[in-house]
Amino acid sequence: MSVTYPELSLHIGGKRLKGSGARIDVIDPATEKVIGQVSGASAADLDRALAAAEKGFGLWRAVAVHQRCAILRRAAALLRERVESLAAVLVLEQGKSLSEARGEINASAEVFEWFAEEGRRAYGRIIPDRTSTGRMLVVREPVGPVAAFTPWNFPALTPARKIAGALAAGCSIIIKPSEETPATCLALIEACVEAGVPEGAVNMVLGEPATVSAHLIPSQVIRKISFTGSTLGGRAVAALAARAPKRATLELGGHAPVIVCADVDVEAVARLSAKRKFRNAGQVCVSPTRFYVHADIIEPFAAEFARTAKEITLGHGLESGTVMGPLANARRLSAITELVADAQAKGARLLCGGKAVDGPGYFYPPTVLSHVPECAAIMTQEPFGPVAPITPFTDLDEVIVRANALEVGLSAFGFSRDAATVNKLGSALEAGMVGINRFEISQAETPFGGIKESGDGREGGIEGLEAYLTTKTISQA
Ligand code: NAD
Repeated sequence: MSVTYPELSLHIGGKRLKGSGARIDVIDPATEKVIGQVSGASAADLDRALAAAEKGFGLWRAVAVHQRCAILRRAAALLRERVESLAAVLVLEQGKSLSEARGEINASAEVFEWFAEEGRRAYGRIIPDRTSTGRMLVVREPVGPVAAFTPWNFPALTPARKIAGALAAGCSIIIKPSEETPATCLALIEACVEAGVPEGAVNMVLGEPATVSAHLIPSQVIRKISFTGSTLGGRAVAALAARAPKRATLELGGHAPVIVCADVDVEAVARLSAKRKFRNAGQVCVSPTRFYVHADIIEPFAAEFARTAKEITLGHGLESGTVMGPLANARRLSAITELVADAQAKGARLLCGGKAVDGPGYFYPPTVLSHVPECAAIMTQEPFGPVAPITPFTDLDEVIVRANALEVGLSAFGFSRDAATVNKLGSALEAGMVGINRFEISQAETPFGGIKESGDGREGGIEGLEAYLTTKTISQA
């Protein structure tokens, strides 16, 4: 399948703009070839984006809510119309399989549709006044221009949550997507503008992440920050936001435990786990990453897991038959190589995979490690790659303590057929999202986010709109 990678640019004030900052190369992770180039934003370009977002906020908040919602629905329709071409571009810059990329574009359209509807429900209230004639009104208003930062693993869905949420509330937004996957976000911005979002209400910049965030966040124009990415990046952004202070939604990494009890259908759960584990080559913040399997079933579970893993076809995401693409960048390849070597050195058994595929491309095969000791780095460090560490347990209370021991808490999973155990897992697992007997934990209607060092605030669901609204009390005599 031949696909042309689009021309890149910044997008400021309703128009494409050639940046005057440093040049950025975009690489196809399956070939390591440069497929696109773009100049990042200079300080002057960032100031232009701030001025545009300020003006765009005034224009957009003045548009009647039902009209704003119609525009967002139109943007969703454009994404659905363009699913094939957008998915192909997403694959080129990020590496995932075409069918996963299609799913991501459709999910992004759904996020726009959800927020288009939810924006109509930014209800206020009237509180009885202490006088017989006065009125106390509580109204919800857009918080103001937003600065958003998104990573490379979901180049459409993560920007969609932030752009649609902000716009539905009546905010304007400047988004800095990952420099590794800029074309997909640019296409979302263009769909919004084509659908009728006014000049300056949606803007996209690129550049050195720390420099861009240090410029945008302290600006008086920006009233709200939304960041998805690593805990390290999140800390830097949160520190800048706290200095103002400004509201910040942080969606950071996780390290999801999966507790598999002895009473499950072992083969079915093992197959389900393997399929979910290797989605997007494991580069998913809610990916299941630590498998605690009851000692009575660990051998058949691990064997079936490895059998399923070996059946996964690795290849360029655009090739028909590819189930799993390469890792998105060279950093992940070296990180995964080190984590697997460390686990093996500490006594883990390698059941399949375990060695990077000879280049070109950042390919690493689905890898299953069994009997991984708790001292292995992979048990505490988020792998963000196609490696499944499996380890035994015998006592449910004790394994819940192990599952909750890390400082992160984004997602967690439990499998059992026993009602009391199911209830216990749902209540006791410390995470923002818990999946019981399934891995699906997120849809446009549900809040997405973590606890502890996995971040603060929620995207999606009614909470996702709330994040962009502020409350005003109007006291009328
Ligand atoms: P990284 O910290 O270099 O970058 C992650 C993302 O954060 C990038 O998009 C980057 O542009 C942004 N970023 C980093 N510092 C920033 C700053 N000061 N201001 C603004 N943006 C900033 O990490 P990486 O090498 O790309 O990935 C490493 C780890 O990050 C992964 O192992 C994973 O744990 C985590 N990660 C999490 C998510 C998620 O969805 N929560 C996504 C990607 C990566």
